[in-house]
Amino acid sequence: MADLIPLAEAQRLVLERSRPLEAERVPVERAAGRVLAEPALAAVDLPPFPSSAMDGYAVRSAEVPGSLPVVGEAAAGSPFGRTLAPGEAARISTGGVVPEGADAVVPVELTDGGTETVLVREGIEPSAHVRERGGDVRAGATVLEPGVLLGPAQVGGLAAAGIAEVRCTKRPRAAILVTGSELREPGAELAPGEIYESNALLLASALGAAGTVPAQLGVVADDRDELERALERALLAFDVVITSGGASVGPHDLVREVQRGLRVEEVFWGVALKPGKPVAFGVRRDHLVFNLPGNPVSVLVTFELLVRPAVNALLGLPDPLPRFATGSLAAPVRPNPARDEFVRARLRYDDAGPVLEPLAGQESHMIARSAAAEALVAVDAGEGELPAGAAVRYLPL
Ligand code: AMP
Ligand code: MG
Repeated sequence: MADLIPLAEAQRLVLERSRPLEAERVPVERAAGRVLAEPALAAVDLPPFPSSAMDGYAVRSAEVPGSLPVVGEAAAGSPFGRTLAPGEAARISTGGVVPEGADAVVPVELTDGGTETVLVREGIEPSAHVRERGGDVRAGATVLEPGVLLGPAQVGGLAAAGIAEVRCTKRPRAAILVTGSELREPGAELAPGEIYESNALLLASALGAAGTVPAQLGVVADDRDELERALERALLAFDVVITSGGASVGPHDLVREVQRGLRVEEVFWGVALKPGKPVAFGVRRDHLVFNLPGNPVSVLVTFELLVRPAVNALLGLPDPLPRFATGSLAAPVRPNPARDEFVRARLRYDDAGPVLEPLAGQESHMIARSAAAEALVAVDAGEGELPAGAAVRYLPL
């Protein structure tokens, strides 16, 4: 294998080629999980009118305390309908329009009586319990900036500001193509030498959660013609093509060779990473191609460190690289001398914060053991040993 490049360099090369996709219109009811491509501007003042924050009485603040005739009602959705004259009070509900003429709302708790006349027991400041028109946002002002991932608070804010449609980056179309003549579907009978395929499902689930539209292109045997057909099809129709297996140095590892024939420019092959060393990245025009290793744990790790950042960048997220948290090791770990290692660990919390317990069985084929992992702990290449209690960076899974 050629010289391994550092992970940070691999990530830089990937991001250099991962430009935000074009924008499309998305109805706000389908915008959750999408990334805003243009500023979202409020369609109305919010609140759209001076609105009561309490159930009580709309009054002129200068006229209380005192006894006032109750001349009508402003319920949410049905305004009082005229200007409140001097000396009058109107019953009002939370969310009701504070009528012209009134400048404050007296909460019902501060009053007595109330059907025909209301006795207001205490004085009240002007504007008390009145939500100012446009106090949340003004019509035409920016509710959200481009690059924001739309979650519950965001879609709620957009809807409230009257925004029915937003412009979001397109969801990247991602093709999953797993290679290996030994691979069978879960549930099938295994012939000697065969194993169950797991990477396609792992990748589909990771890609879906990352915001792409994943497509399973099936299992391809280690056969030049079959690989060529499947890869060409994938390269034509998808923004990102992700293969697993067949990209190492064995006689049946044909993926990179076939891709060269299809004019995929290989940007790198081989990263100083454990697991995940034999990972390759290439491009054909603006189509990105990741050749992940076959070992499932390597797929998990290289997805988080290389594929997800690319997807984030295609979506237009401003900080596409993985966001590490800090915790402490529950047990000593011996770093790899040459490669940065990503150790699968359980994550728990004690009084001092997150604690990471490395799982037993860190080999790259041990996906069943990795199923218990809640975090990837970054163990930088080096000598010696990281003792229990050492501060480490980790990626929650
Ligand atoms: P390869 O990179 O093709 O040499 O594969 C490395 C190892 O990963 C081999 O033991 C393969 O059998 C295994 N492997 C490859 N692809 C998959 C897959 N999709 N699911 C499970 N194991 C796989
Ligand atoms: Mg293989």
